[in-house]
Amino acid sequence: MPKYQLIVIGAGPGGYVAAIKAAQLGLEVACVEREAVLGGTCLRVGCIPSKALLDATEKIHLVEHNEFIGVKIAGAELDLPGLMAFKDKVVKANTDGVNFLFKKNKVTRYLGHARFVGPNKISVEGPEGTQELESERFIIATGSKVAMLKGVELDYDIISTSDQAIAYPKVPETLVVIGGGVIGLELGSVWNRLGTKVTVLEYLPRLLGGMDGELSKAAERVFKKQGLDIRTGVRVTRAYAKDGKAVVEYEGAEPILTERVLLATGRVPNTDGLGLEAVGIELDPRGRIPVGMHYQTSVPHIFAIGDVIAGPMLAHKAEEEGVAVAEYMVTGYAHVDYNSIPSVVYTHPEVASVGKSEEELQAEGIPYKKGSFPFSANGRARAMNDTEGFAKVLSHKDTDRVLGIHIIGPRAGDLIAEAAVAMAFHASAEDIARASHAHPTLAEALKEAAMAADGKPIHI
Ligand code: FAD
Ligand code: NAD
Repeated sequence: MPKYQLIVIGAGPGGYVAAIKAAQLGLEVACVEREAVLGGTCLRVGCIPSKALLDATEKIHLVEHNEFIGVKIAGAELDLPGLMAFKDKVVKANTDGVNFLFKKNKVTRYLGHARFVGPNKISVEGPEGTQELESERFIIATGSKVAMLKGVELDYDIISTSDQAIAYPKVPETLVVIGGGVIGLELGSVWNRLGTKVTVLEYLPRLLGGMDGELSKAAERVFKKQGLDIRTGVRVTRAYAKDGKAVVEYEGAEPILTERVLLATGRVPNTDGLGLEAVGIELDPRGRIPVGMHYQTSVPHIFAIGDVIAGPMLAHKAEEEGVAVAEYMVTGYAHVDYNSIPSVVYTHPEVASVGKSEEELQAEGIPYKKGSFPFSANGRARAMNDTEGFAKVLSHKDTDRVLGIHIIGPRAGDLIAEAAVAMAFHASAEDIARASHAHPTLAEALKEAAMAADGKPIHI
């Protein structure tokens, strides 16, 4: 029976990064993945394909609305198969990249479904039969799957999930998105830009529930302006297919008849058929694998990371944990700074956050100062004809330490990296304000917001 020092189960951003890092640190590593391609949800059906569609459709939108400056484009027409082929090519380049990295780092890959059959043994059921593998340690990185919603009858065609919504074969006339979270707004934006009439039904009183309130209000305003029909504070009770269409019922209004429905009300940890009972690992009430500080489960040589444990379901969070758990195994120490993990919604404008929201600071009774700066006053944003949004810096009232940074605007997802680094280094707002930022750049909006937190912005 093949024997390893470490077996990683799942080759998403958590698992593949952990496997590579552990191999770099000298362990003999295997990774078991049941999908034919490596990369997990993120590379196959999540982050990468959705961003390929978002970036491409933003350009298509600019062409169709003649919003490129200094050029009029006539007779432009959508090539949906071409768009989907581009997306598939991007996905392939990324998933092939993981294959290459496994080979380069000598990570042995097994294709099949892994299940614990003993404390140091798993069975792998693959296309060529079942085999057993043995290892000193394991990392469970099996990710997440779509959360079901009572009353919503998924047929994975008319009523489906993000897996299908990244690949509709034709532009639907109407799409109802259940859930005004990240997936709903990103994929809702994609199809809205291609001409679909998109309705977003959100249970909470506002979109993007976990984000800073001012940011989510601004986002709602912009998305409505872009044509999304956003209805907040509504609870969907039923969705079912009828005569080739779908009916969506929700409290307080008439049912909606629509060509397609996207269920996007969250994701849940994926531990299906893993055989956790064989090793005595129990799940928490939300179906997650409980872990200690160093990602150890209740069985000390079995670790877990990524979407399958607590915390935000984000690829970069899973990656940080992948590096940390591998380092812990070899060096005995590791650390992830959960305060400085950013989150980004890749709509246009982008919405990005790191650290605490104003609502969280208020709830925790932490005194804070606030500085904002609008992109309408930023020279580069004006030059780009892209002035929607603002940057906001929240710092401690007494110490000026940065507690949270929230940006809605062009390239907010790239700008938030500076904010995350500042938070990781415990910067003050004044530190950001005094650091030279190249002119003219969008990043100057963040510098000015930091200056505003200190009470002295220049350009507004
Ligand atoms: P996954 O990526 O889910 O990987 C788990 C892997 O384990 C899968 O490949 C699965 O096949 C495999 N597996 C499961 N069980 C077994 C088993 N028993 N045996 C063998 N293999 C098994 N996050 C971001 O940070 N940025 C984004 O822009 C972003 N966009 C997203 C867009 C969409 C549409 C979706 C759905 C998600 C998006 N996410 C994004 C979230 C991101 O994809 C996840 O947080 C991330 O993939 C989690 O990584 P992971 O390694 O924990 O799990
Ligand atoms: P989400 O948690 O972001 O949003 C789900 C939304 O559905 C919530 O606002 C919730 O209030 C709402 N909802 C729940 N029940 C409802 C009901 N009955 N009727 C109407 N609305 C209801 O979840 P998601 O958008 O499905 O995304 C899943 C995960 O994937 C998220 O955790 C996210 O972190 C990750 N993801 C990240 C990115 C990114 O980083 N850009 C992109 C996509 C997905």
